[in-house]
Order: sequence, then C-alpha cells, then structure tokens
Amino acid sequence: MRELAEAWLTGRPIDGIAGIAYRDHHGVVMTTPRTMESMDDLPSADYSLIPTEHYFDLKEKRQLDYVTSTGCRYRCRFCADPFVFKRKWTGLSANRVIDHISTLVEDSNATDVNFQDETFFTDRRRTLEIAQGFIEHNLGITWAATMRADQGCRLTHDDWDLLKQSGLRKVLIGVEAGSERMLKRLGKDITLEQINEVAQRCLEAGIAGTFPFIYGLPGERAEDLDASLNLAQRLKSMHCRNTTPFFCYKPYPGSPLTDEIVADDHTLPTTLEGWAEFDFIQTTSPWVDQDTDQRVRRFAFYNQLGWSRPRPLAAPIQALARWRCRRSFFAFPLEKALIEAVMPSDPLV
Ligand code: SF4
Repeated sequence: MRELAEAWLTGRPIDGIAGIAYRDHHGVVMTTPRTMESMDDLPSADYSLIPTEHYFDLKEKRQLDYVTSTGCRYRCRFCADPFVFKRKWTGLSANRVIDHISTLVEDSNATDVNFQDETFFTDRRRTLEIAQGFIEHNLGITWAATMRADQGCRLTHDDWDLLKQSGLRKVLIGVEAGSERMLKRLGKDITLEQINEVAQRCLEAGIAGTFPFIYGLPGERAEDLDASLNLAQRLKSMHCRNTTPFFCYKPYPGSPLTDEIVADDHTLPTTLEGWAEFDFIQTTSPWVDQDTDQRVRRFAFYNQLGWSRPRPLAAPIQALARWRCRRSFFAFPLEKALIEAVMPSDPLV
C-alpha cells in the first residue's frame, strides 16, 4: 500500500510494484507475486489510530482484537488461505506479542484480547511462551484464539493448564463437517477422534470451544449433514459456553473445491457488485434445498438455546429445544419466532 501511495504521489508507474492487480487499456495486469515478509521485520500495528473506546462501547466489553501472524500452513480445500498465502506462515515473536499486548492493555484498560489469527496455535512453543509471558507480566486479562483440532491434541495436559492459568477462556476450532467422508473431501486433515478429544481437553481445562460447521457443501449427502448436526449437538451439550455456529458454504476463488465446481459448470460472479453480493447478501448455497437450509437454521437456533446457560424462567423452553434437537423435530417453531421478535440481536450466541 505504501509503495502504491508513493507511486501515485510521485506519478511513477505502478507496474514495478509486486503483488498487485490492476486494469489498463490492454486489460487486467497482475504483477509478480509478493514474497511473505517476516512479521518481526514490520512495525507494530498502531492502535492510537483507532478509537478503541468506541469499539469497547459497541462491543459492550473492553476487548481488543489483535493479529499475531499471517498465513496458514494447512490445505483445506474450501478455504482461500492456501491460495493466498501459498501455505506459508509467519508470526510475531512471543516477546513482541507480550510487550505490545502489555502496553496496549495498560494504555486502554482492556480486560480481554481476541486473537484473530488464521491459526494462532501454529507454533506450539511460541504460544506457550506467550501464555507464560502473560502470567509473568501479571496482565490479569482473559484471551481467546484460533486453534486446529490436531494442534489441540498435540498439547500436553501441562500445556492446557498453563494456557488456562494465563487467561485463555475460549478457542475457536473449525470442525466444518461431522463425517470422516466430508472431512476428507474438505482436506481438513483432522479426524472425528481428534475433534472429540480436543473438545474433551477444553472441557477438562475449563476453556470454552467455538466449533463452526459448514453446510450446503457440494457433494454433501443427507447422511453427512445428519452427522454434522449430531456432532454439533454433542459438542454443544458438553458445556453451556460451547457454541456450534453453522455457515452456508460459499465458493471462494482460488480454492480447489471452487475449481472443481467451476469445472462442473457453476458460474462465479463476474462483477465487483456480484462479488459484494456474494459475500454479504447471498446467504444460501445452490447445493442445499430450501427445506434443508431451514432445517439447519432451526437446528442451530435450538441447539444453542437448549444447551445454553440454564435460565430458571427459560427452563421449559430450553427443555423443549433439547427435545426438538434430539428428535430432529423443527416444525412450528413458535418459540423461535417469539424469541427473535423479543431479542432480534441474536442473544443466544
Ligand atoms: S480453514 Fe483454517 S486451517 Fe484450513 S487452510 Fe483455511 S485457515 Fe488454514
């Protein structure tokens, strides 16, 4: 961005800037790919440029978002990251993270940090050093981060204890599918056994898990979707603070799954407006029929309601929600309509 800005300011041509695409009178031009720089060679993000207090107000919590790494080494076939980052990863050193977070927490009185990396736990030693640093600096914060199921399984019980002691309160672990067949098709390189094991480790350590799923995938069979709903129910019922959100599949360009469906005659958007709609407006998938889509949405709602923190006044409705999920009965969703009318801003997540 800086090179582009400098070129525009000085009137220099932009064709020598690596890693950009632009249109000239001959058509679209893509320059040579840019190599990934070590994050430790870059300056820290300048939080004084954003109104953190305003964000705290909007979030109703004093939570900072922070990114400690770039890229991902894995090869999930639905994800754009392997294409964008060529399966490379670079992360700030533990000391950089600890020092910057300490300063930010002191300056802003933040009480929680949400690490928004693609895969925060990629470097186990770095993660444990960060956790140790939080303890030694007595930061008194809680934190949440992204993890893969296989990464969580490789941590020892002592590692989990250290993470908990350092304030780790939640991990986000992409599950995506509940059948081995679909996990394989998605190239997740994780197994159902690892998903169950990591959920158990979270439970034992007192750390909540967010376990997102994808539905409406090309090639997903009815029994695959049933397996996803069953697994989501099991994960959610393990602890009231666990969540199992469901997202409708979207074909991101550059991913092998997208190449596959395009070869099968699926058409991707061709305009910027089309892509804008694809990402923010279009919420259904052509690979799922309307009834199934509705079933998944209702399941996600009742699964969350049924096993969320028990509330005395809501106990009958929560019991009914659990009954619905166990019997897969989602017709006449009156409680859902009522709750959504009274609390439209997704109060259950
Ligand atoms: S889904 Fe997550 S683990 Fe898989 S390639 Fe994308 S960022 Fe990496």
